[in-house]
This record gives sequence, C-alpha cells and structure tokens, in this order.
Amino acid sequence: ILPVLAVVGRPNVGKSTLVNRILGRREAVVEDQPGVTRDRVSYPAEWAGRRFTLVDTGGWEVDVAGIEEKVASQAEVAVALADAVLFVVDAQVGATATDERVVEMLRRSGKPVVLCANKVDGAAGEADAAYLWSLGLGEPYPVSGLHGRGTGDLLDAAMKAL
Ligand code: GDP
Ligand code: MG
Repeated sequence: ILPVLAVVGRPNVGKSTLVNRILGRREAVVEDQPGVTRDRVSYPAEWAGRRFTLVDTGGWEVDVAGIEEKVASQAEVAVALADAVLFVVDAQVGATATDERVVEMLRRSGKPVVLCANKVDGAAGEADAAYLWSLGLGEPYPVSGLHGRGTGDLLDAAMKAL
C-alpha cells in the first residue's frame, strides 16, 4: 500500500492547481469559484522515484456560517487517513482565521506537516511566505502551483515527511 499525502487548506488557496502541477497533468478541477473539488479525490503520484497517493480535498460551501469549522472538519477526515499533510496557505493573503483553525487541527493530529506558501509567483513574493513562519509549522516553502516555482523543494520536504 502506498503512503498517502493529503493536500489541505481553505478554499481557493490553490490546492487543486498544485495537485495538477505535481501530477504533471490537469486532472484535479481548478475553478475561480471555490468549492468545486469533491470532498476527497485520490491520485497516483510519483516524485524522485517514490510512488505515493496524492489526495486533493475541498467541496465545502464557502459562504455558509461557520466556514472555519467546516473547512477544519473536512480537512480532519483527510488528515486522519494520511501519512503526511501538505498544508497550503495563500501567501498573498496571509494566514486567516480559517487557516488558524486548520493549524489547530493539524497540531492535534500529530501528523507530519509541510507548509506550502502558495501563490509566490516571483521573487517579490518571498517576503509574504516568510510571514507564515508565525503559524508555528516550521519552514514555509514558497511555491507557485500555477507556474511550478518552488515545487521541487516542497516535494523533497514532503517525501522526507512521508
Ligand atoms: P483550491 O480551491 O484550493 O483547490 O484552489 P484552485 O486550485 O481551484 O485555485 C483557485 C484559484 O487560485 C484559481 O483561480 C487558480 O488559478 C489560482 N491559483 C492557484 N495557484 C496559484 C498560484 O500559484 N499563483 C496564482 N497567482 N494563482 C493561483
Ligand atoms: Mg480544489
């Protein structure tokens, strides 16, 4: 059985875009409107000669009351089934209350977490990524899932965590 890497984070941070980048094909559904990904979708993936199962998450409604709770509880199911977690934050926006809720849940899970500071499309965005040290999850990896920037270092870290 292959190790499972779950990609979690609040809607619209770029999880599905990153999943497609890792897969090298457009399989996960990316939408400008958040909430289109089904709860959990698994894909066979490979990095540096290691095969693993990559799980994209999503599927919650964004404009409902208690969004923090909904995002965290959806992510919780994926995390429980995972060996390691890729936690995606939008570095352009910074950490939100919803992100903080997910971080609490990730801490409780005890699973290894790699922090992806996504939407760092150029060198100018690296400072945004550095703010995410404040989440207490260790090094934020600056990544652009859209353009592929930084995904090699991110995946190297994820393979160490798996
Ligand atoms: P998800 O809801 O977390 O799965 O997010 P999606 O992958 O569906 O992406 C949400 C939006 O963010 C889409 O409009 C993407 O094109 C955009 N996006 C995703 N990754 C990046 C990135 O690295 N840089 C920028 N600038 N936009 C991104
Ligand atoms: Mg998605």
